[in-house]
Amino acid sequence: MISMLKLQLHWQILIAMILAVIAGYASGTEAGLGGVTFYSMYAFVGGLFLSALKMLIVPLITASIITGVAGVGTGKGFGRLGSKTVVYYLSTSLLAILTGLFFVNLIAPGVVNGMPAGSLMGLEADVSGIVENAQGRGAVDFLTVFERMLPTNIVRAAADGQMLGIITFSLLFAYYMVRIPEKYGSVMTNFWQAMMLIMLKITELVMKFAPIGVFALVAKVVASTGFDAVLPLASFAGTVFLALLFHSVITMPLLLTFIGRVNPIRQYQAMSPALMMAFSTSSSAATLPVTLDCVEKRAGVSNRVSSFVLPLGATVNMDGTALYECVAVIFIAQAYGIDLNMGLQFLIVTTALLTSIGVAGVPAASLVAIVVILTAAGLPAEGIGLILAVDRILDMCRTTVNVFSDSCGAVIIARTEGETDILKGTSGNEESVPA
Ligand code: ASP
Repeated sequence: MISMLKLQLHWQILIAMILAVIAGYASGTEAGLGGVTFYSMYAFVGGLFLSALKMLIVPLITASIITGVAGVGTGKGFGRLGSKTVVYYLSTSLLAILTGLFFVNLIAPGVVNGMPAGSLMGLEADVSGIVENAQGRGAVDFLTVFERMLPTNIVRAAADGQMLGIITFSLLFAYYMVRIPEKYGSVMTNFWQAMMLIMLKITELVMKFAPIGVFALVAKVVASTGFDAVLPLASFAGTVFLALLFHSVITMPLLLTFIGRVNPIRQYQAMSPALMMAFSTSSSAATLPVTLDCVEKRAGVSNRVSSFVLPLGATVNMDGTALYECVAVIFIAQAYGIDLNMGLQFLIVTTALLTSIGVAGVPAASLVAIVVILTAAGLPAEGIGLILAVDRILDMCRTTVNVFSDSCGAVIIARTEGETDILKGTSGNEESVPA
């Protein structure tokens, strides 16, 4: 009875978000209590919560990939799962980019009354840091993804939170773990399964503090950004938002319905804590523990599929980011009055696809990728300054889409692998244990 009266976690988080908007707006960055600003309190509490999530990433990805691959066994399953995952990542990212391309051409947010908007907005922000960061990079930057896949030192990769390196190592480790004599292999398999279970338990514990953490993170953003920054760029922000919305309420549900043969509404319900977490943290990497928890326990996807698709997805599959890069670059070109022919638009689409793979799942990571694309397309890199004011708000939205696409990938791939126990109820699988 008592548990029925207790508000479900996603409602608690939602209420926390609403309160945070009010509190952040009311306090701003200056107001305080006893010499301590509310802003610094938000930053402190939000930082603690983020650290707790990040603390779990390395052991959780490792354990999750190793147990997942072990679950695939020694048959042909590994290659099949791998190819499906790659096809899903590439095709959904491409669909997202094309959606962005359509909306930015349709709405043309960079053109105001037939004039390029750049002259109206001015370029006040200092962008030298971001531009410098992107210097010397090109579309070839994509190659660094391969370099990162093979780190020289796995311990350092783990210490740096370098996910791609950890993923390659864990994949190889697990591949051979199930191919050595059973006597030795089973010790390791048990060890990593225990590790996985423990990490999921700690994730649950951290999630108990989610309403407080989310409150602090959102209040901090609202206190520092406010809504004034959004107004001059409302048309650009609106275009990104509309395109992201289209991708998540039309494209993804269509894929879920026709390929996954599941009810998309159930998917939103199951993933709501992870989506809200992605929105508040602006980081797919930090959200990963929650995404894994929701996909396995609430959506009912097997550990075998989720632990393969999700960690990789959090690193390389970024639909929202790819879409954003495309819209941002074309908006900047419009604002400078530069005409983009078909060839250039094609170049932007392909570089957005490639760079979105290399973008890390951390806040504001796309900015550097956008400068890379601007440079590759011969557009003014300083144009990035036009969008900085609204980047944080849009980062929250695109990260939510990134995480949602990863979770849909897990569901769709699991369904094509013949799993039937998916999205039968939002909490029916709470007690599931990795195979
Ligand atoms: N913040 C995004 C993520 O973590 C990456 C980006 O687009 O900046 O998914």
